[in-house]
Amino acid sequence: MATLSMDPRLSRRTTDFLSSDHRMLIDGRFVAAESGKTLPVYNPATGEVITQVPEAEAEDVNRAVTAARRAFDEGPWPRMSPSERGRVLWKIADLVEEHLEEFAELESLDNGKPFSVARVADVPLTVDMFRYMSGWATKISGKTLPLSAGYDYHSYTLREPIGVVAQIIPWNFPLLMAAWKLAPALACGCTIVLKLAEQTPLSGLRLAQLLDEAGLPAGVVNVITGYGEGAGAPLAAHEMVDKVAFTGSTEVGKLIVKAAAGNLKKVTLELGGKSPVLVFPDAKTDSAIQGTASAIFFNHGQCCCAGSRLYVHEKVFDEVVDGVSHLANEIQLAPGMDPSCQMGPLVSDEQYHRVVGYIESGIEEGANIAAGGPVSGVDRGWFVRPTVLTNTNPRMKVVQEEIFGPVVCAVPFSDKDIDAIVKRANDTIYGLAASVWTENLSLAHKVARCLRAGTVWVNCHNVFDASLPFGGYKQSGWGREMGEEVLNNYLQTKAVTVAL
Ligand code: ADP
Repeated sequence: MATLSMDPRLSRRTTDFLSSDHRMLIDGRFVAAESGKTLPVYNPATGEVITQVPEAEAEDVNRAVTAARRAFDEGPWPRMSPSERGRVLWKIADLVEEHLEEFAELESLDNGKPFSVARVADVPLTVDMFRYMSGWATKISGKTLPLSAGYDYHSYTLREPIGVVAQIIPWNFPLLMAAWKLAPALACGCTIVLKLAEQTPLSGLRLAQLLDEAGLPAGVVNVITGYGEGAGAPLAAHEMVDKVAFTGSTEVGKLIVKAAAGNLKKVTLELGGKSPVLVFPDAKTDSAIQGTASAIFFNHGQCCCAGSRLYVHEKVFDEVVDGVSHLANEIQLAPGMDPSCQMGPLVSDEQYHRVVGYIESGIEEGANIAAGGPVSGVDRGWFVRPTVLTNTNPRMKVVQEEIFGPVVCAVPFSDKDIDAIVKRANDTIYGLAASVWTENLSLAHKVARCLRAGTVWVNCHNVFDASLPFGGYKQSGWGREMGEEVLNNYLQTKAVTVAL
């Protein structure tokens, strides 16, 4: 704790928060774990422990769920007027915005990402999400329905909050993932237990303090910290939870489905990806090089929609791959708070070994390294150099499996292959996102239709907006986050029929 609070780049607000005693928000109070246990939070740029946070276990989960249940069944939140709920959401957005610098510092320190990126991406997108959902609070409505039985009945639907929601989030965009989950559930009138990722709990705990300040009634949002097995699993299985919304690995997503079966709670999942990027020969080469490099290297490749398979037409393959490799070689690795940082460390020791292991497996299976490789050259911290692999084949682990790091496999295709390349792009268990790079409008739209993915970007990648639904085909998930569609995750429909 002491080493970091001396970092002169951190603001006073951040050092004050870091040196405070970290507590979870349960039933409107800031509390330690019942057991008194804590878990360490690491600085990925140094491997040092920053601070400790509570380690919630089943009894803490039970306390939080009981509070959320009471707040839903008896409390004011689901019964409040939609405009009042909307106002609270807007207030949360304002408060996060007022603390923009502090949140960006916490994200950078905890996750490893560049402060400059957290400042222009993670935090503003969080603010947007709360504002956008604030507007939806007043626009949730049912329909009146004409019955085939005739005019002796008046029938209509009510869209009601689903109840107590468990939300389990990952570490790649800690604050933003909290916002993606909390904002729509709150707009719908649900109550929540949010479990933060054990690797990155700091911004979520700070957000919990602001939620309290924004005037949320006790028990409406409960924020807990703990490990997946110790806290996530009992939360996903809890009988008093009506719905679980999860973002994380496909592997854990499958465990969530099993855990939810006990009381048949509703489930939505935002899982892994192995997103293809298709560059056609008529693409604007410079922007394709910049865009496809950023598709994989943004957030150090720790994005579920990272463009990790780069299919480039043979006419421009060398130019594009050389360009992406050149950009990769130029990227400055440094701690996230360092002004020179263009790419920080990966989030954890585990993630570092996982990503380096994939690069080594690619080499063993015969891939060539066009940039990067398993050795970062940085003597401490969990840094991995942005890496470009060529000479891969479709069965290699690096091509099939989600690496979740700054590693891209570049593959050429020929004119004859257009249909085949779309087929190859679709040839994984995932279907989260894809991008297409071409100036040919008709080709772009045709390929967009053929790609089995929840998001297709044309001449761009990683463009997110609170209004755009995001989620996966195939094993990339169930349901959509953001946009109007996310409301379906947190509402259920009641049909009311009146005999006239
Ligand atoms: P990653 O492998 O990238 O860390 P995970 O899918 O393991 O992603 O984790 C995402 C979130 O799921 C984290 O909050 C983690 O604590 C939680 N989690 C991990 N295992 C379980 C589990 N068995 N049940 C519920 N939540 C879990």
